[in-house]
Amino acid sequence: MSDYWNEKTKQLTPYVAGEQPRDRKFIKLNTNENPFPPSPSVIEAIQKAATEALRLYPDPSCTELRQAIAERFGIKAAQVFAGNGSDEILAFAFAAFFETAQHGNPILFPDITYSFYPVYADLWNISYGTVPLRKDFSIDPAPYIDLLSKGASSGIILPNPNAPTGMALSIDELKNLAEAAGKNKRVFVVDEAYIAFTDSGSQTYGSMLPPLKDLPNLLIIRTLSKESSLAGLRAGFAIGSEELIEGLCRIRDSFNSYTLDRLALAGAVAAINDASYYDEINSRIIATRRRVTAELEALGFAVLPSQANFLFASPPAESGISGQDFFTALRERGILVRHFKKPRIENFLRISIGTDDEIDVLLEACRDILDKSSRKDAKTQREEKL
Ligand code: PMP
Repeated sequence: MSDYWNEKTKQLTPYVAGEQPRDRKFIKLNTNENPFPPSPSVIEAIQKAATEALRLYPDPSCTELRQAIAERFGIKAAQVFAGNGSDEILAFAFAAFFETAQHGNPILFPDITYSFYPVYADLWNISYGTVPLRKDFSIDPAPYIDLLSKGASSGIILPNPNAPTGMALSIDELKNLAEAAGKNKRVFVVDEAYIAFTDSGSQTYGSMLPPLKDLPNLLIIRTLSKESSLAGLRAGFAIGSEELIEGLCRIRDSFNSYTLDRLALAGAVAAINDASYYDEINSRIIATRRRVTAELEALGFAVLPSQANFLFASPPAESGISGQDFFTALRERGILVRHFKKPRIENFLRISIGTDDEIDVLLEACRDILDKSSRKDAKTQREEKL
């Protein structure tokens, strides 16, 4: 606490990002980065953009990037907003579309979800309510629809697939939620940070882009951090009706006109234009996800059915090893995963899908940890008998 901070700053509980270690080389499976490099065309475009033109401000409207996104997804550029990572766009969406505690009802999101949502709500003084996940950790749409129909909500935000569970709602379930929100002129934000990792060709799961044209209250937010291996670049985008996009622009232009720099714009355009490279690496991640799910289950882990580039898994109950202890044991073996000290999920680990080689090291470490603990158990039992 500092005497120089105002009351608001004193009251904030900021988001804590996953560790980015500097001291030692870890196998990094803790922040859902893509394990493969960005497309070579992205690096080339950034190098080409590193000229004396950096003296000039970048295009505040991100015209070229928005056009590239519009072309790729078959929409109008006026339906696209570009931002400095999807976190920034999420922050703008909270400010643009949801009501302050003084003026209206709460925005709703799941009780177990991306932990930045309550932080943004608090930052902008927006009231929020959380809706519990079902026992199996899936999102139950019914309470949202019920609260919306009673006029008791100022809107909904959720990630699809959800984080940190990795579980997805079906396109039909999401459409029902969007329509229920639309009836009350409420905005429904779907955070599609992990959408590129849903089972390809699935009729059940996938992006809300196809039904978007009939849903003027739907805002889709995506990021290049995961699906385009560009977490270090900071670029994300939102797609929605022109009126929603204009709402985001009003917030941005009251905050910072130039949220994407020239290098990021050049790299992001090249990434959007190289879908085939990214389809290939992301399908490898999906294949590895299937393999590691099966192998962890064979070791006795409970693994939630993931549609994302990470798994949410708890160590075998009979091992008696808590999530925290398993996290520490993996860290000691040079592997970083994410652990959340929160009720209901404290025995889970969130494990980003790495390369096949990284996953082999992870699986070997898991076997070793379980093996050591069962040998220790056998030894204690023998000593107890003596
Ligand atoms: N949404 C979700 C659900 C996430 O997990 C993340 C990554 N932490 C983000 C958004 C933000 O991604 P970025 O700001 O890197 O685009």
